[in-house]
Amino acid sequence: MKYINFTREQLLERIEAVELLNSELLREKEQETKLEYAWSGNLGHWYWDIKTNTVTFNPLKVTNLGYDKSEIPEHVTYQFFTDKLHPEDFQKTMDAMLNHLHGKANVYEAEYRILAKDGKYRWYYDRGKITQYDDSGKPKFLAGIVFDISEKKELELELQIKNEILAEQATIDVLTKINNHRSLIDRLRSEIADASRMAKPLSIAIFDIDDFKKVNDCNGHICGDQVLADVAALFKKTIRDTDFAGRYGGEEFMVIFTDTDLAKAAKISDRIRQSVEGYFFVNDLKITISGGVEQYKGEDLTELIHSADMKLYEAKKKGKNKIEPIY
Ligand code: GH3
Ligand code: MG
Ligand code: MG
Repeated sequence: MKYINFTREQLLERIEAVELLNSELLREKEQETKLEYAWSGNLGHWYWDIKTNTVTFNPLKVTNLGYDKSEIPEHVTYQFFTDKLHPEDFQKTMDAMLNHLHGKANVYEAEYRILAKDGKYRWYYDRGKITQYDDSGKPKFLAGIVFDISEKKELELELQIKNEILAEQATIDVLTKINNHRSLIDRLRSEIADASRMAKPLSIAIFDIDDFKKVNDCNGHICGDQVLADVAALFKKTIRDTDFAGRYGGEEFMVIFTDTDLAKAAKISDRIRQSVEGYFFVNDLKITISGGVEQYKGEDLTELIHSADMKLYEAKKKGKNKIEPIY
């Protein structure tokens, strides 16, 4: 050690000189970050001396969180920052650091939310690397750089929400909030493929509201729309988790019964019919539905739907408020 023979005064003098140089370099770095780096959100570099657990960093990293420079403690530890991490981001940030320290990752890299003084969180992107090892090969010193990516994250989250809404709109009927025609057909296509492959029974039912024109004529279209939404809700409530219900079009609904034969599908369909029959709709209106049930027998999708439709037609002919066939 070259300082071993230094006197106390000489050591103090040396420490003072190093501290001075350190603060000068930091000031320069801070200026660089503010003026010269083109990357937006750059909050500058940080350095972590693992042995003394001392983090030296660009004050921007903390003033960006709403703190004044005077509020930064003289000795800042690694935990000074990790204590402010969002609970949901804590573990993955720790893991990212540990993986790097243990040689499992080339760099330390993490995106996390960090608590600002006003109680809100900001998103930081942090990246660093071990720059020095001790004689036994253990990491001694890390250097890194941190960015505020809050704006980018906000846009990302907004986009994600918009995409979810779009995806939902593409499969859910706007009026009745039940699966739409497209998702019914997509689902039926894949159920037919599964049923053929695994030789399992598959059935479908098509339902149509009886005399729905009268509902519109006497109570108006708004009331008709409400009835459609309520019928859809009854479908959702009555079917099993494994079944798939949707609005086929107008006042027609379809249910796909996975792994279900004709008798079982007809029984469940009749339960749906009964639930509609027993329900008091808006203005205490009473509504009934009819349904045609068909089991898949290897025909194509259009033929299967057509057969169910023919059964529905029979149910209507027999006086409505019926399921065809009856079991
Ligand atoms: P049936 O018992 O033979 O099925 O008689 P119906 O009156 O239900 O028969 P039809 O199929 O001729 O009439 C269906 C009506 O459903 C006509 C149409 O105005 C109405 N309808 C279809 N879609 C909607 C909708 O989104 N909202 C409202 N309010 N009415 C709709
Ligand atoms: Mg109809
Ligand atoms: Mg009808």
